[in-house]
Amino acid sequence: MLLRDGIVATLDPPRVTRTDLRVDGERIVEAGPSLAPAPGEEVLDLGEALVLPGFVNAHTHLYSALARGMPGPADPPRSFVEILEKVWWRLDRALDEESVHLSGLVGSIEAARSGTTTLFDHHASPSFIRGSLSTLRRAVEEVGLRSVLCYETTDRNGLEGRDAGIAENGAFLADEPTALTRGAVGAHASFTLSDDSLQRLAEAVRAASSSLHVHAAEDRADVDDSVRRSGKGVVERLRRHGLLLRRTLLVHGVHLSEAELLEAQAAGAWMIHCPRSNMNNGVGHALTTSFRRVALGTDGLDEDMLAEARAAFLRMRDAGRPDALPAAFGMLAGGHRLAGAFFGLPLGRLDAAAPADLVVLDYRPPTPLTADNLAGHLLFGLDRSHVRSTMVAGRFVLRDRRLTSVDEPGVLRRARETAGQLWERMQRL
Ligand SMILES: [Zn+2]
Repeated sequence: MLLRDGIVATLDPPRVTRTDLRVDGERIVEAGPSLAPAPGEEVLDLGEALVLPGFVNAHTHLYSALARGMPGPADPPRSFVEILEKVWWRLDRALDEESVHLSGLVGSIEAARSGTTTLFDHHASPSFIRGSLSTLRRAVEEVGLRSVLCYETTDRNGLEGRDAGIAENGAFLADEPTALTRGAVGAHASFTLSDDSLQRLAEAVRAASSSLHVHAAEDRADVDDSVRRSGKGVVERLRRHGLLLRRTLLVHGVHLSEAELLEAQAAGAWMIHCPRSNMNNGVGHALTTSFRRVALGTDGLDEDMLAEARAAFLRMRDAGRPDALPAAFGMLAGGHRLAGAFFGLPLGRLDAAAPADLVVLDYRPPTPLTADNLAGHLLFGLDRSHVRSTMVAGRFVLRDRRLTSVDEPGVLRRARETAGQLWERMQRL
């Protein structure tokens, strides 16, 4: 297929060029001005639409896709731990196979409509653990996205639940990887895991040559618990258990010190920054000036990376960072490097041999658009309403604003019914 006459922009390095792209199979095979169509080749005229690399959501919870508008608890939570206990840990216990599958479909549809092509999901469904990751994979691949999946291991559902969580991660990682899906070893957070559990997680990481995806120091309670258990902070506790490795995903890091952040990143870990979630839970501000290897995550609020990047930018400005614009732009680009490391592909590039993961946006800039001011256009001008089409591995999953592989109205109808039943089950737990 020949995508003709797009304004093609990449983030790292920032580049804006009017160019054509030839896509064959999963990849871009040629990029340049005025490419001639090959015989029989489909030609799609983009009419100067903006083309960007598909966005990467480095931390989400697809299982929360059916929580929108959910009634809150009668007695409102007063702390971060109470938010978990009264809302999220009741929701995840009420999930069954059907609601996991539907939430995966709904979240993936949202992602496609937001130009997000890769999801790093952190999944929990304590009443349906075994097989939950392959159920989720089925949903995400049905829509046609890339994902890196893991199960959130925790002690909060007893040793049986913990062991089933570790086993689910191991079984999924041992399964043959598909073109679009990878695995990681998931863990909820230091404060819901004993030393023995961390040791078992480290064994699972080693056995699969994988890495951990874990919430770290999201709230002060996680740090206090780690000090109580080990006399040290969360980073040191994970390091002692051999869990601070290349491609470890440390999500939030709100209450990590500069020294802890630098140590973790020097060991190869990535910080995943979720500014909207941090505001929603009132947990505080991360020390973003010490983020070196960083990508953005929505933490399940939605799958909209442009909204997340704008929130990151505004929050850093509000905190007085003069370099907030390039910093937020860099965080968005960080997602490509992170996903690229998991897939072994140059994600984020839009040139010959790069994977054809891209988003086409109906954006008519009212001012000149150049490599120098691309960050300004991204953070002040663009939002997901501009997303016209989304391509993953050479296949349009959204084309001219229509999902290509799933019956979207049908999925949403089923999701509304299932969400109602899910909320009812929650009330009984
Ligand atoms: Zn999370």
